[in-house]
Amino acid sequence: MASTYDVAVVGGGPAGLAAAQSAAKAGARVVLFEKDEAIAHSVRTSGVSWIDSMESLGIPGSLYNPIANYRFVSPSNDVMISGSTPRSCVLDVRATYQHLAFLAAEAGATIMVKSNVINIAKENGAVTGVKASTPAGDMEVKCPLVIDASGFSTSVGRKAGLAGEWRRYGVGAEYECYCDHADSLTWTLMVGQQYSEAGYAWVFPLSKNRVRIGVGIGRPESQADPLGKLHAVLEKRLKPLDALGKIQPVELHYGFIPNEGPRQHSVADGLLMVGDSAGQSNPLVLEGIRYAIEFGRLAGEVGARSLAHNASKESLADYEKAWKARVAAKIASALKVQSRWIGLSDGEWDKEIGILRDMSADEFIDFIKADFTAAKMMKLAFHHPKLAARQLFNMVLK
Ligand SMILES: Cc1cc2nc3c(=O)[nH]c(=O)nc-3n(C[C@H](O)[C@H](O)[C@H](O)COP(=O)(O)OP(=O)(O)OC[C@H]3O[C@@H](n4cnc5c(N)ncnc54)[C@H](O)[C@@H]3O)c2cc1C
Repeated sequence: MASTYDVAVVGGGPAGLAAAQSAAKAGARVVLFEKDEAIAHSVRTSGVSWIDSMESLGIPGSLYNPIANYRFVSPSNDVMISGSTPRSCVLDVRATYQHLAFLAAEAGATIMVKSNVINIAKENGAVTGVKASTPAGDMEVKCPLVIDASGFSTSVGRKAGLAGEWRRYGVGAEYECYCDHADSLTWTLMVGQQYSEAGYAWVFPLSKNRVRIGVGIGRPESQADPLGKLHAVLEKRLKPLDALGKIQPVELHYGFIPNEGPRQHSVADGLLMVGDSAGQSNPLVLEGIRYAIEFGRLAGEVGARSLAHNASKESLADYEKAWKARVAAKIASALKVQSRWIGLSDGEWDKEIGILRDMSADEFIDFIKADFTAAKMMKLAFHHPKLAARQLFNMVLK
């Protein structure tokens, strides 16, 4: 079976769905391939994001649980930052991604589920199409532009020789659980060896009876298995699990996220990479959904415009310039903070989270979102004269 489209999008995560919507809206004939049997069939994320970002991206408030308070637990410390209004949120991931799929379909994109892109076509060095295994048999698509939104695997970028394997990455395991009583307005991050050797654990509530409990571990710093670690945390009912009453897992989520900053190149002749495949996430807490949607839309727009120039690398360059101008510096600063955090001992973590105790909820959110500007960091260093705080904020500035 052979088909002709203008744009083939590989991957039905937030980046691919957003790209499919905006390219179709701009008039391109778009097909999107998702290898799983449904959009968001396998959840690979914890779904924490920020209410202002979701509002500016048009994600309805009914798709997330608002969060006003942020708690940090280390072996001998416990800090709560309380906000007067919710600024963070935990997404209903499946409903959010399916919402994005409906927007893409409404704009005119064709969505193929259980359709795995297994190969690409190239002519004179340019990517000119893909081959997918679909429920209706193998399908070859010839198209001027392929958008690689395949996430961590970067399946097209790697086949095209534009990208290599990630060397630094995070791997996480999470149960979505029933629990007797969670505080639905508070999410908790837990740090220290008993939770994760190189990373953190979390409790993210979706309601007072539904929470996501997970463990994330950084490679190559640790080779520990996050699922084994998660089982130990659950079995020992480490703080704050001790206050949740009965905990009954109903879903297991597992995923990988790149953790080395932006890819050097995200465009080539006939190819554009977006979302995790391009390394666009915020490495401070490894969150990338908002950027995947934002840059997915940008990718679709620039991609549709590039069709008049046969999707040449030059005609896609505006996309790479725009997303790097928006986040590359923030990601670089966040990587510095992360490199400090990844090596902390339990005792050092106890002190480090003490820095957070003095922050207001707004200051904390700017920090954790990696919304670093020189002015904000200088203000923080000035307002928080503790030596450790000054060191932290100055490190971001340098
Ligand atoms: C454990 C964990 C927790 C996280 N927690 C958060 C969080 O709380 N908040 C946050 O903002 N971010 C979080 N992230 C990161 C976030 O999930 C990613 O940044 C985001 O999903 C990137 O979106 P994407 O569309 O680029 O990739 P993905 O969401 O990974 O989507 C890629 C899609 O492509 C499909 N695919 C792959 N290869 C092919 C192929 N060859 N053919 C067809 N389809 C293919 C996959 O099945 C998948 O559906 C977390 C990540 C992990 C691993």
